[in-house]
Amino acid sequence: MPLLDQITITHRYATLPAGFYQFVAPTPLDNLRWVSWNQPLAEQFGFSHGAPESVYLLDALSGTVSHDAFKPLAMKYAGHQFGIYNPDLGDGRGLLLGELVSLEGVVFDLHLKGAGQTPYSRMGDGRAVLRSTIREYLCSEAMAGLGVPTTRALGMMVSDTPVYRERVEQGALLLRLAESHVRFGHFEHFFYTEQYDQLKQLADRVIEWHFPDCENSKKPYLTMFENIVQLTADMIAHWQTKGFAHGVMNTDNMSILGQTFDYGPFGFLDDYEPGYICNHSDYQGRYAFNNQPSIALWNLTALAQALTPLIERVDLDSSLEKFTPRLQSQYSAQMRAKFGLFTKQPEDGAFFSESFDLMETAKVDYTRFFRVLSCLDSDGTSSLVDLFDDRKLVDRNKAVMWLNQYLQRCEKEKLSTSERCEKMREVNPKYILRNYLAQQAIELAEQGDFSLVHTLSDVLKAPFDEQPEYDYLAKLPPDWGKKMAISCSS
Ligand code: AMP
Ligand code: MG
Repeated sequence: MPLLDQITITHRYATLPAGFYQFVAPTPLDNLRWVSWNQPLAEQFGFSHGAPESVYLLDALSGTVSHDAFKPLAMKYAGHQFGIYNPDLGDGRGLLLGELVSLEGVVFDLHLKGAGQTPYSRMGDGRAVLRSTIREYLCSEAMAGLGVPTTRALGMMVSDTPVYRERVEQGALLLRLAESHVRFGHFEHFFYTEQYDQLKQLADRVIEWHFPDCENSKKPYLTMFENIVQLTADMIAHWQTKGFAHGVMNTDNMSILGQTFDYGPFGFLDDYEPGYICNHSDYQGRYAFNNQPSIALWNLTALAQALTPLIERVDLDSSLEKFTPRLQSQYSAQMRAKFGLFTKQPEDGAFFSESFDLMETAKVDYTRFFRVLSCLDSDGTSSLVDLFDDRKLVDRNKAVMWLNQYLQRCEKEKLSTSERCEKMREVNPKYILRNYLAQQAIELAEQGDFSLVHTLSDVLKAPFDEQPEYDYLAKLPPDWGKKMAISCSS
């Protein structure tokens, strides 16, 4: 048993009383095998090289063979789905195996997604298909590469167990790591079932595990909530500047640590389109890209409601009021860095809004726009004008005029062009996980070829680096690959 003996594993969630979870053994899958193993991440926990070749580790981590190191449990939670409260949620296909302690002493939940039915599965089969598992694996690692707070992916396994969605697909497993799997919906469950002692117990544990500084505060629960508000605002600032649409911002998919959580029908903007809806089932556009800030606040308001037995209403309201200013200041700092405009000038407000209007009218590619702007020192200005000219949606002169205005504005910066561009390349990625790339990787993987999954996972770890041999992964999407609306089925 050497491989797991080297790792420190704890079970602090399992010390909570019954009612917070139920112990459930994973249901094994047929002919399970490793597809991906995140060695750089695994090393942070002391896993040695060669770990993925180990059948023993595959059996233990997938729950195929029960192992003393783990106490698999399904967490109970509830949540607002598309604005409507659903009391019947919980880990319906995922299990918390235990917590892994990193070599630096940070505790991470080890969650196995796709492990089979639990008492909270409702009508579901408890499974996750290869398609959605690849999407979560690639995107969570891509977000980490971009510097966005997120859950992580330790590994992925595929099986021959058929899983029935719109078609028959292969069952897969994702090993997910996160400092917490507590969602807004955990608090909502105890509030709406009027289990206020458990609500307090949960808040006490969350403070102990994740916000220990709150213990010194006069109002520890309030300080905890203020932290959650701030972390959520920071996460949304990242989403809005990186062009990331989550797609299912239900309160059961909101982490109390402000980490991007539960990757489903997400999408990155291709053309700059503020109202982009990535979720095929989101008919009203509730979770459209430009609604994410207000939905995050809505979700925090739902969490605030669930905390009313612990925190005074007036305090909750004043914390909620801090959300928008925090988001705006983070967003504005990140957006300034994207443009390379670090000093504040009186004309900036008008300039930014003109820039976004032009990008929208021209349907310019959001990621490419900023990357090309970051490469003016080496590539010159023509590639930027070509990017606008490509679609012939705006007159070429408009793009030239905008660029001149931008270059004039840059003269007010203290940095030289090359210094500015160098800084801009550190925040404007060359590579993002475009939906069409994920789709190509999935189609190959379903035929047994995981090469593109592996290439993407390597390249997206360093999205700001040139990596010229992978230029083909930074190309603009083909027409079929734009604005792909992804189904919720997973
Ligand atoms: P999601 O839309 O993936 O965030 O899931 C919402 C709820 O449905 C959660 O409680 C999940 O655990 C549950 N769920 C999603 N898919 C399945 C499935 N295939 N089997 C059982 N439960 C599921
Ligand atoms: Mg979920």
